Amino acid sequence: MNISNPQRKKALEESLAKLWDIYQGIADTATEVSKSRCPYKNALDQCTARFGCRNQKVVTTSKCNEKTLPICTGSDKLDYRDAWES
Ligand code: SF4
Repeated sequence: MNISNPQRKKALEESLAKLWDIYQGIADTATEVSKSRCPYKNALDQCTARFGCRNQKVVTTSKCNEKTLPICTGSDKLDYRDAWES
C-alpha cells in the first residue's frame, strides 16, 4: 500500500483524535468514580489506608492466623471521608 504524506498525516490525525476520545472517556469515568469511591479502596475492595476508618473490617485467614488488608465495607454511595479517623 502506497500512501502519500498528506494521507498519512490525515490518518495520523484521525487516529490521534480517536485515541484522545478514548482517553477522555477513561478520564471522565475516573473522575466520576473518584467522587464516591474512596481512593484507598483497591480492586479487591480491600482498604490500603494506613489510618483508621470505621469502614474497615479486619479479617484473618484461617491459615496461620495471617492478617490481610482489611475489607472496606463502605458502600461507595456516601461520602467516605466522614468515616476517616484523624
Ligand atoms: S472508606 Fe475507609 S475502609 Fe474504605 S477504603 Fe476508604 S479508608 Fe479504607
